[in-house]
Amino acid sequence: MNTPKRIEAVLPPPPANMVGDGFRVHNFFPNGYRIQRRTSPFFLLDYNSPVEFPATDRPRGVGVHPHRGFETVTIAYQGHVAHHDSAGNSGVIDPGDVQWMTAGSGVLHKEYHEEAFSRSGGPFQMVQLWVNLPAKDKMTAPRYQGIRHADKGLLTLPDGAGTVHVIAGSHRGVQGPAHTFSPIEMYDVRLRAQGTLDLDLPAAYNTGILVVQGAVTVNGEAAPADHFVLFKNEGTAIHVEAGEESILLVLSGEPINEPIAHYGPFLMNTPEQVQQAIADFGTGKFGVLED
Ligand code: MN
Repeated sequence: MNTPKRIEAVLPPPPANMVGDGFRVHNFFPNGYRIQRRTSPFFLLDYNSPVEFPATDRPRGVGVHPHRGFETVTIAYQGHVAHHDSAGNSGVIDPGDVQWMTAGSGVLHKEYHEEAFSRSGGPFQMVQLWVNLPAKDKMTAPRYQGIRHADKGLLTLPDGAGTVHVIAGSHRGVQGPAHTFSPIEMYDVRLRAQGTLDLDLPAAYNTGILVVQGAVTVNGEAAPADHFVLFKNEGTAIHVEAGEESILLVLSGEPINEPIAHYGPFLMNTPEQVQQAIADFGTGKFGVLED
């Protein structure tokens, strides 16, 4: 019998703020809640809860900006995002898709609503995570993993309870496609009403569940839509019961216990490395990308 993983808090969404003019996000961490020490290797969680964007001829989004020292992971639930970066990668993130971009030594990128979606307008729902890189990998070459929904590992739960689509790590022998630099488990879980799910995740891993849709009970505690369940580093077993049809994003990872120096789009280990990133950006070392 595995010991239940104890819940530290069920966190309601912080007030929303705009990122550029295309993303209306609840920043759960590092600024919404001071739980950064409890979420490593996940440094940032921006959750764009469902919002209706009106039709427009000029796509909304975020213009060209740099990143160094970490990875951005964008998960689309509703709506479509077009992405371009200075490493020459581009793509459209459709509902169910995951874009895992390793900024590493540095890229410029831009993120806009895809053109046809912009023209029609409609419901929009996304997650963006910043995943920290270990010190030894911060200056790795940029990399881009476009993971379609169908590429995820798929486990169908017994009794028609729902599905677990594995993005990273593995669940009951089903592997996810994402290559990661530190041990990470990331699952896209879809439960039918009254469906149940049992997870077993290492006690030492920092672990959270974002309720993307529906309402669930997690180890006996109610977790409504748009809430983030943060676990203690105690116990391993998570039992979920869906009160209605629900979508969950399960995040779990081995903490990176290294110093953090964060400034804007740079996530390094020391202030000197941040200064170097600013200098390198200023002298064009992140490449070229047209707005
Ligand atoms: Mn970005």
